[in-house]
Amino acid sequence: MRFGKNMMAVEFQDDIVLIDGGLMFPEDEMLGIDLVIPDVTYLLDKAHKIRGWLITHGHEDHVGGLPYLLPQLDFPPLYGTRLTQGLIQVKLDEHHLLADAQLNVIQAGDSLNLGCFQAEFFRVCHSIPDSVGIALHTPVGTIVHTGDFKLDHTPVDGKPTDYAKLAQLSAQGVLALFSDSTRVEAPGYTPSEKTISDTFDTVFNNTEGRLIVATFASLISRVQQVVDTAMKYQRKVGVVGRSMLNNVHMARELGYLKVPEGVILPIEEILALRPEQIAIVTTGAQGEPGSALSRMANGDHRFVSIVPGDTVVLSSSPIPGNEEAVARNIGNLYRQGAKVLYHRLLPVHVSGHASQEELKFMINLVKPKYFVPIHGEFQHLVLHARLAESLGWPAEDVIVAEDGDVLEFTQTSARKNGKVQAGYVFVDGLGVGDIGTVVLRDRRHLAQDGILVAVVTVDRQTGRAAGLPDIISRGFVYQRDNEELIEEARQVALESLNHQKDHTADYGYAKNKMRDALSAFLYERTKRRPMILSVVVEV
Ligand SMILES: [Zn+2]
Ligand SMILES: [Zn+2]
Repeated sequence: MRFGKNMMAVEFQDDIVLIDGGLMFPEDEMLGIDLVIPDVTYLLDKAHKIRGWLITHGHEDHVGGLPYLLPQLDFPPLYGTRLTQGLIQVKLDEHHLLADAQLNVIQAGDSLNLGCFQAEFFRVCHSIPDSVGIALHTPVGTIVHTGDFKLDHTPVDGKPTDYAKLAQLSAQGVLALFSDSTRVEAPGYTPSEKTISDTFDTVFNNTEGRLIVATFASLISRVQQVVDTAMKYQRKVGVVGRSMLNNVHMARELGYLKVPEGVILPIEEILALRPEQIAIVTTGAQGEPGSALSRMANGDHRFVSIVPGDTVVLSSSPIPGNEEAVARNIGNLYRQGAKVLYHRLLPVHVSGHASQEELKFMINLVKPKYFVPIHGEFQHLVLHARLAESLGWPAEDVIVAEDGDVLEFTQTSARKNGKVQAGYVFVDGLGVGDIGTVVLRDRRHLAQDGILVAVVTVDRQTGRAAGLPDIISRGFVYQRDNEELIEEARQVALESLNHQKDHTADYGYAKNKMRDALSAFLYERTKRRPMILSVVVEV
């Protein structure tokens, strides 16, 4: 049994079953890297043994690695519920991989034979509908993998975690339980998703202007809550942001999002309504640069300009690492005249993960011989292990494993047995693993297409460019023979900044915009991609 970034392989002789294939967003020091995915080196020469790839739910940290991992492992058959497969389908389509993938839809309650294994899926509650946990019956015993879960008695889709199934598995005997550790630090119980509906109700009831709700594109149940509340208060709903539009479309088609005709309208029609009739759902609650909400906050969105009287609800709490970007967005939204409601002011988000009492309940219900905490930082795994020990599990039956650890089980024993390679694989654009380090990549860029530096001087008072940006290039084009191109590039750089409202002083955002605009322009004109540095000087 092996771990990666929310990926696990269960192996017995000639059969392997994989569970989830996640992705992690890069940390700051991994400059210029788009994504980080699990390292599957160990599996490369064993791809023919993979009987199936079981997916617990459609969140990025469980499916985001698939477009990069599937081709490396010869496209083993995927098994997931309808909504999960729908989300995977959208993703694979974006990567032009749909034709090669084998997508199999399963439902909670189904059971599958995969080589010597038998997999059973059971319903769990999480912040995305159609999540399942997995019971894998192996020749040495049954292992139960919870996936991400909470024990919500009033979930948005009305389908709580399947306690009966868990009790039944428990009665038959469970060798090992692998359980979600994400929220082990929180005492008590995680509040129900229902508390959000109550908050939305209060907010909608007390707001006269337009309402803009930002959340994760994959939080289909949150979108449902917005739609339900909007209908109650006679508002129409517009959807903004490409990934949100794709997911909403897919979820409606599959029946996971229930919206009567005429409630969701094209954004152009929405914007023509009176403010008190408008609700907009969008992406960007995490302050992601380039997301719809960041564009709105910077006065730079194609359709939606924030106006005084607007209320923006950030329906998610910042993931560690995103706090600064979220705070900057909130500040910018205020500058545009909006009122912003976020997690520190109102319960606008609840976690999708179980707190301590729920985690204890899970362990006591399943009564495994061995307990293995999964999902979370190392400290979360250790805390979860202590929790199991506090319930009476002997320390030697509780195993804290890190990425790459191999766990070996027999009917009567469990131990760590060595490690396999399971480090980071950096993904840049669409290629996989072709970059060892950031430095190498930058060097290659430089060697092939040279470098271009754009310097813009900005007036501190107005936030506006004080003139045409300066452009200096080396190794890209011979500047003297390409004066025209460089002049045009200066114009492009200036224009990219002028769409911003003048009172936003978000230079990080401005630099990104200038760089992206220049990159697109230069590629179109020269088919080359020089390394571009953008510099903002404040006077
Ligand atoms: Zn999740
Ligand atoms: Zn997760």
